[in-house]
Amino acid sequence: AQFTVADIRQTFLDFFKERGHTVVPSSSLVPANDPTLMFTNSGMVQFKDVFLGTDKRPYVRAASVQACLRAGGKHNDLENVGYTARHHTFFEMLGNWSFGDYFKRESLKWAWELLTEVYKLPADKLWATVYMEDDEAYDIWTKEIGLPPERVVRIGDNKGARYASDNFWMMADTGPCGPCSEIFYDHGPHIPGGPPGSPDADGDRYIEIWNNVFMQFDMQPDGSVRPLPAPCVDTGMGLERLAAILQHVHSNYEIDLFQALIAAAARETHTQDLANPSLRVIADHIRATSFLVADGVIPSNEGRGYVQRRIIRRAIRHGYKLGQKTPFFHKLVPDLVKQMGTAYPHLAKAQQRVMEVLKAEEERFYETLANGMDILDAALAGGQKVLPGEVAFKLHDTYGFPLDLTQDVCRERGVTVDVAGFDAAMDKQKAAGRAAGKFKMDRVLEYAGEVNKFVGYEKLEASAKIT
Ligand code: ATP
Ligand code: MG
Ligand code: MG
Ligand code: MG
Repeated sequence: AQFTVADIRQTFLDFFKERGHTVVPSSSLVPANDPTLMFTNSGMVQFKDVFLGTDKRPYVRAASVQACLRAGGKHNDLENVGYTARHHTFFEMLGNWSFGDYFKRESLKWAWELLTEVYKLPADKLWATVYMEDDEAYDIWTKEIGLPPERVVRIGDNKGARYASDNFWMMADTGPCGPCSEIFYDHGPHIPGGPPGSPDADGDRYIEIWNNVFMQFDMQPDGSVRPLPAPCVDTGMGLERLAAILQHVHSNYEIDLFQALIAAAARETHTQDLANPSLRVIADHIRATSFLVADGVIPSNEGRGYVQRRIIRRAIRHGYKLGQKTPFFHKLVPDLVKQMGTAYPHLAKAQQRVMEVLKAEEERFYETLANGMDILDAALAGGQKVLPGEVAFKLHDTYGFPLDLTQDVCRERGVTVDVAGFDAAMDKQKAAGRAAGKFKMDRVLEYAGEVNKFVGYEKLEASAKIT
């Protein structure tokens, strides 16, 4: 018998429940009252104030399966989707926490026990990394758990920037952070990529599956750190990455859940070749955008709503690339609900609304998509390697092509976009608009609806993208 994603979730929660953890439900993709963060990007987000000591819970150990989105801000994987085997925008994170209770030893030993004895991953394919200065974690791995030193890698500072290392985890530019230890799985020599810490570590051979963060600090806006009231543990493991290993496939996109979504995308776009990367993008984006609607984020021209719009339009453009000339994307929602509605009842409940929101956005974008693509094709017909900024701006302003969508098309063709030229064209139009007495876009930002409102680090970016 093979682990399904449902089995994997349940096994994880049971394991930590047996070890005194309280199982906590997934929180919204929209962080509650947190202006430093656009979306919930990890399981710890709902516990941020518990780490900081300003919120108390009736438990000191917790476990969850958290819906996460990495499509903006510090952790942004939108540009990886369709290109790597391991990244999604929306994914599920299995996590366990200690709030001032256990620390490194228990965390790493339990992780090892769960992986090797319960999920039964082959121990000889696992690697671990530790923060360069963390001798304690290094010794736990090598002396107590018995991982051979050749497979325990110290990860150093990033060019002198002490806290920019892969093994120093930060939720955002400020807030809880600390050194971490990560577990990798070697998918084998037939896949390109080097071991953690090596120059070609970014390949898909050694895939990071589980991060154990030893939360000890609160990062201040000036880059200094203050100790947390008590050392804590925060772990996160990608469900889809673990599922790939347990289902004996390499890519996250080959697991049961994704195969169903890819088949649905192929059906709706009449695509024969199931390996077409556009199908993976569409399958990823239907999850992200449906969960966003279920959590109240609707397409708009600012903040979270603009990220939502950008993801939907990217998906539609990939459908168009597959030859689809009419709305199709919303028709995947029932397939998604079939896969994920049991684990996420709020998604199932929102099915109708999700379909309506996506369909409306599709109808809107299909009005201009074909003409915009013609303009883009014409601009590149001479074999140019750079798309002029004015063209990208015209596509944005008149045809509703977000800049990143234009860049996505260009990237496929080995072309870059003149972003400085795009910005200049945007500034020029804004100045003209102000001169004509139009009311300022900044005010739109201030008065936007609560869920869509986000005025943290993305403010500049968001305002630069308003049509
Ligand atoms: P990577 O280096 O592969 O981009 P990460 O270091 O950014 O991953 P963490 O922030 O440490 O990831 O998150 C904890 C875990 O969540 C990862 O070990 C991985 O299993 C999973 N994960 C992170 N990003 C993604 C993603 N975009 N899609 C699917 N799973 C992810
Ligand atoms: Mg990452
Ligand atoms: Mg990493
Ligand atoms: Mg990591």
